[in-house]
Amino acid sequence: MSQEPAYVYKLQNGRKLTAAEFIIYFEQKVFKTIRKFKLFELDDKLVVALSGGKDSITVMYLTQKYLAKKNLQKNIQALLIDEGIDGYRPATIKFAIDFTKKLGIPLHIESYKKNYGKTLDSSVEFLREKGKNISPCNICGTFRRNALNVGARKLKATKVVTGHNIDDESQNILLNIFKNNFKILARLGPFNGVIEDKMFVPRVKPLYLCTEKEVRLYTLLKGFDVGYDECPYSKGSFRDELSEILNQLEDEHKGVKNSVVNFFLEIHDSLKELYIEDGSDKIKYCTSCGEPSQRIVCNTCSMKKLVNSEN
Ligand code: SF4
Repeated sequence: MSQEPAYVYKLQNGRKLTAAEFIIYFEQKVFKTIRKFKLFELDDKLVVALSGGKDSITVMYLTQKYLAKKNLQKNIQALLIDEGIDGYRPATIKFAIDFTKKLGIPLHIESYKKNYGKTLDSSVEFLREKGKNISPCNICGTFRRNALNVGARKLKATKVVTGHNIDDESQNILLNIFKNNFKILARLGPFNGVIEDKMFVPRVKPLYLCTEKEVRLYTLLKGFDVGYDECPYSKGSFRDELSEILNQLEDEHKGVKNSVVNFFLEIHDSLKELYIEDGSDKIKYCTSCGEPSQRIVCNTCSMKKLVNSEN
């Protein structure tokens, strides 16, 4: 009697895949996303935003594989931003160092401590002691956007590649709808380069249509040494709540995350027209650091002042 092969994954149409079939399916999905949304040009100098977690390691590995098919594998570097999160980040930095060494990809490391005077841990503690109610993710997101953009520009990158997957994007879409942030909503998408400015390095997301579960399975099947732990600050955030709700919905109604992202993609052009291309969103430059900003003093400079100010 012939034995049934060991299946590891079931597609939405019911077809079951073995480990080898899943790896091909997953890689093809990522490469198709790159082509469909025209994420890379042949002369791009890519910088991968690397954390050492499963998503960023996967996107770096597959970006290099995609470039290698065109003999352009040298056009990739990695940039790691060390936030300074004790008990969490040091382990993933080790994964990042080991993996980039294995792939022969140059790795550059920047840190919040060096760029903004304090680690994330000390900033959070400092603001808590002062009774200021600012979420760690708010501080972290503000510094990370700046550190990535400035760091990538220093490396002469034409694009930053991030490991955002469909779980992240569906959360982002709903978060911005629930908070009435339509301008930020309009800037989401697989190619985050709607603001054209020579100082702003566009961001692209090759894992845009992959679920978190798929990325996890891929890294396990490939035997990658990567971090799977969640950041200790993520617990209890609005995003965390949304993630739980979406996961529950996805378990009961398969395809929900896909539908959220597909709906967004359908209306994305109209959102851009309404909230970005009317000219009211024109870029200005921070009077303190000179970086692109919507305000006179950018969020990064304001946050840096806040976490270092004794008043
Ligand atoms: Fe930063 Fe929040 Fe992400 Fe942790 S969960 S890395 S604090 S943005």
